Amino acid sequence: MATENKPRVRFAPSPTGHLHVGNARTALFNWLFARQSGGTYILRIEDTDLERSEAQYETQLIADLKWLGLNWDEGPDAGGKFGPYRQSDRMELYHDYAKRLLREGKAYLCFCSAEELEAERKKALAAQLPPNYSGKCRAIDPAEAQKRRAAGERAAIRLHIPEHPIKFHDMVHGPVEFSNEVVSDPIIVRSSGMPVYNYVVVIDDAEMKITHVIRGDDHLSNTPKQVALYEALGWPVPEFAHLSTILGPDRERLSKRHGATSVANFRDMGVMPEALVNYMALLGWAPSGGTREEFTPQELVKEFSLERVTPSPAVFDMQKLYWLNRHYVAHRLTTAPQATIELALTFFTKAGYTPDHLDPKGLTWLQSVVTLLAPGVDKLEDLPARAAMIFKYDATAAKTSPDNAEVMGLEKTAAVIASFAKKVQSESGEITAERFKAIVNEVKAETGAKGKELFHPIRIVITGSHSGPEFDKLIPIIEQGAALGLPARVLSVKERTEAFNRG
Ligand code: GLU
Repeated sequence: MATENKPRVRFAPSPTGHLHVGNARTALFNWLFARQSGGTYILRIEDTDLERSEAQYETQLIADLKWLGLNWDEGPDAGGKFGPYRQSDRMELYHDYAKRLLREGKAYLCFCSAEELEAERKKALAAQLPPNYSGKCRAIDPAEAQKRRAAGERAAIRLHIPEHPIKFHDMVHGPVEFSNEVVSDPIIVRSSGMPVYNYVVVIDDAEMKITHVIRGDDHLSNTPKQVALYEALGWPVPEFAHLSTILGPDRERLSKRHGATSVANFRDMGVMPEALVNYMALLGWAPSGGTREEFTPQELVKEFSLERVTPSPAVFDMQKLYWLNRHYVAHRLTTAPQATIELALTFFTKAGYTPDHLDPKGLTWLQSVVTLLAPGVDKLEDLPARAAMIFKYDATAAKTSPDNAEVMGLEKTAAVIASFAKKVQSESGEITAERFKAIVNEVKAETGAKGKELFHPIRIVITGSHSGPEFDKLIPIIEQGAALGLPARVLSVKERTEAFNRG
């Protein structure tokens, strides 16, 4: 397939921490744009900040992106003809271009010390002026500057910003213009020899033939510096799309303070990758027409459009993510039951409900527990708590829970419970779903209770709560579990009823 004129986009994370939803959404929008246009998706590791970059974060980042299903065509592990794809492996290139900029008079050496610059900055701020670089070293003759550097004086390299406003187009924000005065001549290579982000990003984007730069809007104010570099180097300026900030429910920028924010957090909680992908797509984007919110990754590739991405901040709504997750857990249980059950079981093991190795009978039983309960939880991590009705029946809590007070106070409740207990008492052996139904019908006939006044008290006796899964499915699970003799002892229907009436 010819990819000549197709878009080329990149996700360019810095391996300085865990991949959080803000960056993951950037990765996703780039991926969607590439996949729907038949373009190329590139992963580039921006590790020029040597102090903060760590190899383990790169490994984790790659694992997180793979878990989300955002596969790339070129990258540090995948290779590609525009590599290397890790900035620390591209230093020579950056230095070559810096030499060219100096040679062409587009950049100059700056000898100002950190102290001098700080004093200048303070003075400007005190005079209520923008804290811009004065441009002092611009006046030094380049040959003289080279001599000084050759003689051992430390110098940074600054870009000469042109004396005109800097304009560019943003697919989300429309036409953007910055006065050259707010940009001032930025440093592109520090006196330590280390090139800075705003510089290397341009070299890489141009060298890698990036057509669309899609990233977070925290980089919007960096863009004029980058555009000035494209101009200085005589390169075409790419399209930009700056994605809105993601806020927490308190409308503050989403951060760790708000709880789970990293992709790894969500995975560990038992959120399905397609739920997270679906949810992240809705952060700043909405499909045209209608209010549909459920989209598989394939559907997103079809529906997504950068034109429909809004510049206003998106508020992260955990409940909506959970709602989508419930949908995808249920979906997976039908399309990939084995893998989903195995994943769910890891949460039981963590909660100490099961030994690491169950015999085949125990495993089959536990699978039925998962199948019954998983569609009702926000995230798989909640499964053990939800399964407390099976594993940790507590008669005292059942009777005294404020949640059950209303049902316990109903006129017919005492009669229903007494009649039910009597009938269960005279049962011998496992109570089947059919037998249970027959018992409930007998209680109904005997007490005249029906609907809620019949079922809710019985539910409280059996599970400790007046709401929960259907009896038809739950009763066999309780009875079979009781017969298994697991480490976390499951009480039978009879044992539960006795315990309830005892206290
Ligand atoms: N390494 C930058 C970051 O993680 C990437 C910015 C960009 O996409 O240009 O924020």
